[in-house]
Amino acid sequence: MIISELKPLEELQQALSEFDKLFLVGCAACATACKAGGEEEIFKFQEWLVAQEKEVTGSVVIDEACHIMRAARDLRHHKNAVRDADAVVVLACGSGIQSISSTVEKRVVGGLNSMFLGNVRRFGHYEEMCSLCGDCILNETAGICPVTTCAKGLLNGPCGGMEDGHCEIDAELECAWCLIYERLQSQDRQGVFARRVPPKNWSHRRKPGRYRLKDGER
Ligand code: SF4
Ligand code: SF4
Repeated sequence: MIISELKPLEELQQALSEFDKLFLVGCAACATACKAGGEEEIFKFQEWLVAQEKEVTGSVVIDEACHIMRAARDLRHHKNAVRDADAVVVLACGSGIQSISSTVEKRVVGGLNSMFLGNVRRFGHYEEMCSLCGDCILNETAGICPVTTCAKGLLNGPCGGMEDGHCEIDAELECAWCLIYERLQSQDRQGVFARRVPPKNWSHRRKPGRYRLKDGER
């Protein structure tokens, strides 16, 4: 899921300084799961706005704010409250913020910073494991991504700084390449060590990403 966090309040104060009335939008998916833009955070944000002498005309937590049609549908149910607001504040990832800004004619203010695509280790503990490179090599690296989890994104084994299986950049982290080596060994295969991996071809990364599932085609 997309890991996001509330922007610094001083930055938001500045971004909202020209508006008196605000409509709030949260997201029931990722932003709720990382406690940045769910019902509870919308409620707290509303209290903060009221303390700033702002008026909140209404709020909604959309199932998935990144779903443009769903966002448009949910906002239609609140059209009077949106109309009465000077701006819409969105507590969702950058994708969700853009769904809303493509849907409403009002000024849209993003309330969150989006940080990375994260796995959930346990509640409140998120780890980046994939950088969405568009050319996945996990099948050769025993399911551990060196592009993302090696601090240097190395593709052909560990750097000279690895010590006792730990990363020289952050000693709290295990070296990704040691983990890959150990897991490949436990599977009795060479995997990525059987070849020299060429430099990453980042042209496979779709930017901006566009993908359509076509009927009957997989
Ligand atoms: S190799 Fe690329 S697609 Fe595969 S996990 Fe790593 S960053 Fe993600
Ligand atoms: S110690 Fe390992 S994980 Fe850290 S930068 Fe070097 S190769 Fe990458």
